Amino acid sequence: MNKKCIICGKQAKFVIKGTNDYYCEDCAKENFSDLSLLVSLEELAKEFKKHIVEKMKSSLKEENIENENLNE
Ligand SMILES: [Zn+2]
Repeated sequence: MNKKCIICGKQAKFVIKGTNDYYCEDCAKENFSDLSLLVSLEELAKEFKKHIVEKMKSSLKEENIENENLNE
């Protein structure tokens, strides 16, 4: 993920939950006293990856079940 800070254009490290407002670390600290409003892009990428893996796992499971049924 290569997002830019909406204020200074530097590489963003945070995003406001549920929006497309990206901030670099400096601007985030300057503009938000409460950083809990912000999600780090790293965390977001991790969550996203986890979600994809879970999805893949569950679709693999479904495939296996389908194959088992075919074998019967
Ligand atoms: Zn910035």
